[in-house]
Amino acid sequence: MRKNQMRKWIVAGNWKMHNTVAESIALAKAIKEGAAGLEGGAVVLAPPFTALGSVHEVIQGSSLSLAAQNMYPEDQGAFTGEISPLMLKDVGCSYVIIGHSERRKYFHEQDADVNRKVKKATACGLIAVMCVGETDKERDRGVTREVIGRQVQTGLSGVEKLENVVIAYEPVWAIGTGKVATPEQAQDVHAFIRGMLKNLYGGHAEQTRILYGGSVTKDNIGDLSAMEDIDGALVGGASLKADGFLGIIEKISSAK
Ligand code: PEP
Repeated sequence: MRKNQMRKWIVAGNWKMHNTVAESIALAKAIKEGAAGLEGGAVVLAPPFTALGSVHEVIQGSSLSLAAQNMYPEDQGAFTGEISPLMLKDVGCSYVIIGHSERRKYFHEQDADVNRKVKKATACGLIAVMCVGETDKERDRGVTREVIGRQVQTGLSGVEKLENVVIAYEPVWAIGTGKVATPEQAQDVHAFIRGMLKNLYGGHAEQTRILYGGSVTKDNIGDLSAMEDIDGALVGGASLKADGFLGIIEKISSAK
């Protein structure tokens, strides 16, 4: 079994627009209990904004970390309906997901918006989980590398250090569809991203975690996590039930 000395694995659960406060507390408690004693990586929970404070109370003092699903790249101001990175830190977040494909698709976020958010989040001391991924049409046209290359290059433009950046490769065609990328397809893109990071940042890229996301379950994550450049997973649907999510964590922690 390969143990990566350079990078600690991460399993992040993106709960999206699911769960009341009470449901979020119950799920966080179950994950906390099940993940107790696991070492060598990070388990990150991303509940909806309304449950951040309550989930923080549940996981405080444990090895679990809290993430937000989005943020607005200003400290404060007249931005009705938005949440700032300082507010996220105040409520206990250490991570923030940025540029998820649902934000890009439904809220028209562009690479330049993603870049502003990554810069602001990292400057405020949050770890930015920057999501990139091609659509099925782009993969069919053979432009996957071009698309990922543009998203990574623009998303990280002006970001001086990689230490507070995690990349999540999430092929859009795999998110919520049950169509998971093969380990070879995912590894190919992960290695491409790591190569880009090495060109941009040199040796630091060896320490940057690159997560796979897209229809991950405890049944398919074993082969994916055996791949050299896959350092964990960003999980949507399967993070909403403690058993399934804990199964994913166990597989990844034993593979890495
Ligand atoms: C996601 O939304 O980031 C995701 C990977 O979703 P799912 O696991 O449901 O495909």
